[in-house]
Amino acid sequence: MEGCDCIEPQWHPDELLLKYQYISDFFIALAYFSIPLELIYFVKKSSFFPYRWVLVQFGAFIVLCGATHLISLWTFVPHSKMVALVMTVAKVSTAVVSCATALTLVHIIPDLLSVKMREVFLKNKAEALDREMGHIRTQEALGRHVRMLTHEIRSTLDRHTILKTTLVELGRTLNLEECAIWMPSPSGVNLQLSHTLRHPIPVGCVVPISLPIVNQIFSSNHAMIIQHTSPLARIRPISGRYAPPEVVAVRVPLLHVSNFQMIEWPEVSVKSDAVMVLMLPPDSARKWHVHELELVEVVADQVAVALSHASILEESMRARDLLMEQNVALDLARRDAEMAIRARNDFIDVMNHEMRTPIEAMVALSSLLLETELSSEQRVMVETVLRSSNLLVTLINDVLDLSRLEDGSMGLDNAPFNLHSVFHEVINLIKPIGEMKKVAVSLDLASDFPESAVGDEKRLMQIILNLVGNAIKFTKEGWVSVTASVAGVDSLKDVSGSDFFPVSADGQFYILVQVKDTGCGISPQDLPYIFTAFAQSQMGAKKSYDGRGLGLAICKRFVGLMEGRIWVESEGLGKGCAATFIVRLGSPSMQTMIFG
Ligand code: ADP
Repeated sequence: MEGCDCIEPQWHPDELLLKYQYISDFFIALAYFSIPLELIYFVKKSSFFPYRWVLVQFGAFIVLCGATHLISLWTFVPHSKMVALVMTVAKVSTAVVSCATALTLVHIIPDLLSVKMREVFLKNKAEALDREMGHIRTQEALGRHVRMLTHEIRSTLDRHTILKTTLVELGRTLNLEECAIWMPSPSGVNLQLSHTLRHPIPVGCVVPISLPIVNQIFSSNHAMIIQHTSPLARIRPISGRYAPPEVVAVRVPLLHVSNFQMIEWPEVSVKSDAVMVLMLPPDSARKWHVHELELVEVVADQVAVALSHASILEESMRARDLLMEQNVALDLARRDAEMAIRARNDFIDVMNHEMRTPIEAMVALSSLLLETELSSEQRVMVETVLRSSNLLVTLINDVLDLSRLEDGSMGLDNAPFNLHSVFHEVINLIKPIGEMKKVAVSLDLASDFPESAVGDEKRLMQIILNLVGNAIKFTKEGWVSVTASVAGVDSLKDVSGSDFFPVSADGQFYILVQVKDTGCGISPQDLPYIFTAFAQSQMGAKKSYDGRGLGLAICKRFVGLMEGRIWVESEGLGKGCAATFIVRLGSPSMQTMIFG
């Protein structure tokens, strides 16, 4: 048992116990001292830990416990064996547990710290969310109020109702003592109190626009708190109470109002905006909140929009009234015109039936009279009666033609006729007069000029007769020539001018007729009037002729009905005249094909 010798105990058991106690005390003290250090580290790191003082207290307690154990190292006294044993076991277990605790703390402090930090982070986050929610709720409430106010304000388009509703609704929503609108005065230099919520408007309550406070309000887009002593806040009688009311003023831009002539506030027309003043109840210690100011600003803008809509409506109502007046006037004018047309038609009827019959009797009787034995004086008188009656018949016919042409009641015949004989007939009628006047009358029909055509023979003859009649009437010596040819659509474009568009159609053709003379001609200043009915008064020349100025006017309308064009050229007075017209006629072969 050599080994037993080697480890032969050198210590006495009592001493050994003391030794264990001694070592245990040392470790207990060590553990006790290390734990506060760790706590200090923990407190330092976790800046948000709320119970710092308790920790400090706990640390002190542990340090003191450690100190007592350390001091007891020097105060060991021998005890009875049993006590020493119990003491040793207790101290060893305390040493083990306290050292284990100190070591565990080293591990868990970082965890504790991160938990703590997360907790603080989450707490901050929750607070921020709370704030956000509060903000959203305020915004929601603001939006609700604005919607409600906007609905109330926009439900009318009458300016006074808009303003009154605004004041009532704002007063109710914000629980105001007073709310008022200052409008620009007629002169444009003052603001005058135009609407209030509760108090009557004092007479002559005006504030100069040039006041600095007014300028300040006009130059800001935000509602601003103003002194309760400001002239703009002098809306209600000042009471001697303790706390003055908080007053806010905001600009109400009079938007499009400037583009319209306002009925009641013509002057607002333009330069100035309005001001809205809102007053909290006095003695209430209530202050304006930011969201309340925002609400006031939004409402001011809404009022501006509603006012502009109101003035647009007023303007359109005025335009409507004006239009109605104009319509009434037009209606009256139309009735007058209809009456005039009726009167003219009555007159035409009278001309047609009542005048034509006696004149025709005069013509017939004077013709008969001429065939009887008459003295030369009587013959001259009867011939004059016959000529005058014929003239009257022509006049009546012309007037009737013209009125029928003007009211569109005249239509054209559309029948086949001999084209050549129309020209020959006219020449036969005119030739005797030409011979009397010693004026040569010639007719030249082109070789390809069709024998027959389809159209209104009587009216075509009337046109030619009128032109040839004029030519012979205004020619004292020389000649009158009539030429006629068929004209192709393309050649017409060159001769007839830019405002005539000939159309080529199957079974139709254009004829071009020209009547030239060597007569007195027409002056350039008279030329524009020759196709105007009864325009003789405007024309200076040829007063010696007994013209009525109806012939060419009627010709022009007939030519128009025949899809053609007529024009007169003259190089001036004494230089003769050339009247030309184009009309469209049907070719009889096609007519036979279609109808025959
Ligand atoms: P009226 O011959 O009955 O006066 P018209 O309408 O036929 O009416 O003619 C209008 C006017 O145009 C004539 O008064 C005349 O001044 C002028 N005029 C027409 N044809 C000729 C012509 N061939 N030569 C000169 N002037 C003419």
